[in-house]
Amino acid sequence: MTQLTSKVCVVGDFAVGKTSVVERFVTNHFSGKYLSTVGVKIDTKEIEQPAFGITHKLVVWDVAGSDSFGDREFAYLRGASGYIFVADGTRPLTFEAVETIQSQIGERFGAAPSVLLVNKRDLVAEWEVSDERFESIGASFNGAFRTSAKTGDDVDVAFARLAQLIVERELRGE
Ligand code: GDP
Ligand code: MG
Repeated sequence: MTQLTSKVCVVGDFAVGKTSVVERFVTNHFSGKYLSTVGVKIDTKEIEQPAFGITHKLVVWDVAGSDSFGDREFAYLRGASGYIFVADGTRPLTFEAVETIQSQIGERFGAAPSVLLVNKRDLVAEWEVSDERFESIGASFNGAFRTSAKTGDDVDVAFARLAQLIVERELRGE
């Protein structure tokens, strides 16, 4: 295997920064605009995985939706190899949205590698998430990161972690 292509879906409540973290990951920019995503937006980025000797093409599906998904949103998720769940550190209610979507996805599609991004880390003064809450919600994911699409903090790290988990699972033949 020298090249692997994986579908990754980005999910979470409105305005948590899903489109912005994808933009940061794919183009390394932050626009600061709020353009509500309609349906789904698909971007691709290749990353190197030297530890496995492969180039890994991530096809990133930015799926619009809120705290609960309908049939159309679930249809977008079909075939996903992994998930990026995004919450907003300034809005604790978005954690509940993540938990709801996570359990709905689990019921429909079974387990898949997933990481949690608690985004807007740059707005630290407005952050409303204790370390305990972060640790407790993070425990139900394969990794949890405090990110900022604005500064770029930990966005690449989070995507790289998910990509690594996907490759490892692939190699196990699951
Ligand atoms: P989506 O609805 O989840 O796709 O959210 P967007 O990516 O459209 O972002 C919603 C709003 O939050 C926009 O105004 C973004 O500029 C802003 N935003 C996104 N990520 C960050 C971040 O890390 N820090 C700050 N300060 N604002 C952010
Ligand atoms: Mg969006």
